[in-house]
Amino acid sequence: MTYFVRGKVMNTHIIDHYAAQIPILPGEYLPAYLSRLRKMTSGVDPRRLMSFSGSAQLGKLHQLFPRVASCFAYRESAREYSGVLLKEHLGSRFWRGFVGEQAYREHIKCVKSRVKSKRSVFEGEEILDGLKPMKFCADCRVADIEKYGVPIWHATHQITSIYLCAVHSKPLLSFQLKLGETLLDYPVINDEVLSLGIEIKSDELRNWLNNQSRQLLSISSEDNRNRLKDVKSSMASAMGARVTTRNMHLDITYRLEWRKYLSDALTRLCPSAQNYALFSDKASLGLPQQLKLTVPVRHPLVFLLAMKFAEDATEFKAS
Ligand SMILES: [Zn+2]
Repeated sequence: MTYFVRGKVMNTHIIDHYAAQIPILPGEYLPAYLSRLRKMTSGVDPRRLMSFSGSAQLGKLHQLFPRVASCFAYRESAREYSGVLLKEHLGSRFWRGFVGEQAYREHIKCVKSRVKSKRSVFEGEEILDGLKPMKFCADCRVADIEKYGVPIWHATHQITSIYLCAVHSKPLLSFQLKLGETLLDYPVINDEVLSLGIEIKSDELRNWLNNQSRQLLSISSEDNRNRLKDVKSSMASAMGARVTTRNMHLDITYRLEWRKYLSDALTRLCPSAQNYALFSDKASLGLPQQLKLTVPVRHPLVFLLAMKFAEDATEFKAS
């Protein structure tokens, strides 16, 4: 299908037709919406419907910026509101500030040219897979059924380090997909999800992470980017790091304590999934790598934990 905007020919995709009939609901998590859309158009060939993303599947959804969501947000007909869509439906303010503008643009270029990039925006995501169960608020669920007739998954609840519902100030419940299951099996928070949801007990670490994540969500990506640079510098100086053109020298005690801290924290945040001690040995997750201005953040959660570590171990204060 083609149409005109300001004299320019635009191409629309079959998904635009159905998205107009079944619009995304306020705050709905984008990958869940796409699952819901697919479910509600069961008469349509999924390969045709999903061809905007180059695959009939939803792909890896544990990522902060899943490929299916990027393809949907940056399809030609959505270009003018891609940013708003990602902010409202993928919690992009949480993670955009951690990615350099150049790296982000290059990623989008790959998405647009349908080049299958194996790399995700954050390279640390695969190893943190187990930390991202689906989450929901039981009160929001009731409210959404009343308002829309649909118990939707909320985008902000899916942010890795959000543990409390901002509207109801209540702990979220987590729901772990079983092996082989995807959001296509649970496009909405059905009765089964509700009955299997486990309340996430709040503690000091989770509350701290929750507050920091809220703060990231309340600031523009550009301001977050600048703030994170300042945070890196303050942390480095609080730890007495010596920076040369090539390297960063950091007290061995801090470096070793950080390894233990990271492994313990990740195991506490997700006791069942993996033994995080295995990958916390990776050089890229070392403390100097978190503090260097020239090194991109591997994963926002790891960086937030480094901030908490610095707060506990030094004079550094995350505002
Ligand atoms: Zn709620």
